Amino acid sequence: MLRVITMLVVMSASVLGTTSTAFAQAPGAVVYPAPEGETLSGDFTVTVAGQAAPVYVCRVSAMPFNQVWPGYQRPIDQTELASFVYWDMSAPVDVEVVSQRPVESVAIRPTARGIQPQVEGNRIRFHLDTPQQLTVEVNGWHKALHVFANPPAVTMPDPNAPGVRYFGPGIHRPGRMTLQSNETVYLAGGAVVYGCFEATGATNIKILGPGILDSSELERYFGLTDESKYLDNFGGCIHLVGCTNVTIDGPILRDPPLWCLSTFNCSEIQIAHIKLIGLWRYNADGIDLCNSRIDRHFSRFPEEELERINALVPGRPLMERHDVRGSLPRGTFFRSRLHADGELLSVRPDVYVLRTSDNQDFILNIEGGVYRETSIGFSFRKPECSVCGKDLRACDHIPGRTYGENLCHCVLRDVLEVIEGSVVASGSQGTRFVAGTRALRLDDALAAARRDFHTPIELGAGGLWEDE
Ligand SMILES: [Zn+2]
Repeated sequence: MLRVITMLVVMSASVLGTTSTAFAQAPGAVVYPAPEGETLSGDFTVTVAGQAAPVYVCRVSAMPFNQVWPGYQRPIDQTELASFVYWDMSAPVDVEVVSQRPVESVAIRPTARGIQPQVEGNRIRFHLDTPQQLTVEVNGWHKALHVFANPPAVTMPDPNAPGVRYFGPGIHRPGRMTLQSNETVYLAGGAVVYGCFEATGATNIKILGPGILDSSELERYFGLTDESKYLDNFGGCIHLVGCTNVTIDGPILRDPPLWCLSTFNCSEIQIAHIKLIGLWRYNADGIDLCNSRIDRHFSRFPEEELERINALVPGRPLMERHDVRGSLPRGTFFRSRLHADGELLSVRPDVYVLRTSDNQDFILNIEGGVYRETSIGFSFRKPECSVCGKDLRACDHIPGRTYGENLCHCVLRDVLEVIEGSVVASGSQGTRFVAGTRALRLDDALAAARRDFHTPIELGAGGLWEDE
């Protein structure tokens, strides 16, 4: 009556490996010259690590609310031009901002960063230890300077390699662009690309680089009908539908007619270091993830957490697709052991599934190799950065990116509980069912499991209610 299956929960640093160096080790800042023909800001000049950095312009809302009839579209006279500047940095830098307006007050926000400017006439000086995004506000929040101090940009692909769309320094006007599977777009520093990207059903696409993608010259809705507007792009800088394995890392997205960056029914998406600016128009939104899943593949358990999982698994249910609200368990994990294979440590819990008529197909699919992947549902306290050891939510490293020789990944610390183990279509850590390697006394296993996790309920042995 009993079928014992061993589920493998495994992860090790050796699985992650490393890739080549991702950025040049030049000290200080990398500043990119502005392209010829791009209108620059007259409000500020900026010098970073001794280099002049071009200050760009973006249209922003000048009003706190956006409720003007007709059409709920903000009229141009409720906007103003703000400024922004960007560079890449790999070491602390000194920044000097010169305001063209007389300086009465200066605020550098968020103020929680504690960045204290030194102000001397119209000169504002401050120091940045790490890449970050700030605003420098002179005489209040109008006409602010937005500062995008980026970490080093992702490695530029070979512009001539197949599948690469490279936009070098300069102004480009490609308009609407449709990406196909396996395409990489690179917006170089100093590039301003007037257009937008869209893709449907594509896999393995990348939109990279520190340059500017500006969608302001595109038409809102592109003349779409109500029926098609959620499937086709309606005016955003980036619009993806049903795409898998997408990386968007680096670009500045400026002034979209509608939803700036939206993904519908996508999976394995990584979005990092993007800057959205100039979203003054009604429904320009920001980032919309619609029925999409974020990639969390770059994670691993350290050894002590695997030990903890090993201790927590017995007694937990075997589910399908982590569906703890909708379905009942298929089986029960009744014991677990740690398995070492060279460097690779894994947790191998045993699970039993009763051979009921309901479970017949389920067992057949596992034995037939169709249901192969597994995954555990667990909670934990700290996603630790493998590069700097800080909480990943507080540092600037991005899992999946390489820093020097280190591939950044999430170290899963302080496992609190294991909720269940599931059969899934695709596990995040290559976990799967494996054939049992031990001779199992099934009767003993079942007896022990019932003793430890299920107090058997004796039906019909008690008296009638009216006797109580
Ligand atoms: Zn970090």
